[in-house]
Formats: sequence, C-alpha cells, structure tokens
Amino acid sequence: MTTKLDMNVEEIFEKIKNKELTICETCDNIFDYVPQKVFCDECKRKKARARNRKYYEENLEKVLARQRKYREENREKRNAYQRKYREENLEKVRARERKYREENREKLNARKRERYHAKKKEE
Ligand SMILES: [Zn+2]
Repeated sequence: MTTKLDMNVEEIFEKIKNKELTICETCDNIFDYVPQKVFCDECKRKKARARNRKYYEENLEKVLARQRKYREENREKRNAYQRKYREENLEKVRARERKYREENREKLNARKRERYHAKKKEE
C-alpha cells in the first residue's frame, strides 16, 4: 500500500484509467484493479458483516429456531465430536475450564449458593 501512497495523483489517475488500480466507492482506498470490484477488501468485509448482522437481527427467531433444530437433529454427532475434541485436547480444554472458573468465581459461587438455598427451601 505504501508504494501507492508514494505515487502522485496523476500517476494514480493514469493507472485507474489503464485499469491497473481502482478507488473504493465508499472509502477512497486504492487497490489493485479486479474486474467488477468497486469496494476495497475492508469495505467488502464491513458490508458483509453488516448484512449478516442485519439478517440476524431481523430474523432472530428464525435463526435461533434453525440452530435449535440443527442441534436437536445432530445431537449424537455433536456430542461425539465434542467428546472426541475433548479427548484429543484434554490439556487445553482443562486449562480453559480452569481459567473460566477463576475468572468467574463470583458468578459461579453465587449460582452454587442459589441452588443450595433453592434446594433447602424444597426440603
Ligand atoms: Zn473501502
């Protein structure tokens, strides 16, 4: 990118005219010419993310229902995969669990206390 910034304006416009470079339509970034490409990679990523987020927000129920359905239909497969992953990465998984427990000690203790009292009330 620095080489492009070093060029003067005429040089850049010359290259754009010769279809060697393109200026991004949203942010004015300059990138190598690719047919049909009018946005730089970063803007393209941003647009895709925004589109995904919008879809997710507008279809939250549908997305969650689909995820739930997938989980239910593939429970065995998912459990098997998780079991296998855990066995193969036992040290890593244990370290992550330990870290989670340490970072969330207050929360976990509060939950434990809650359960304890709820149980006591039942008795
Ligand atoms: Zn851009």
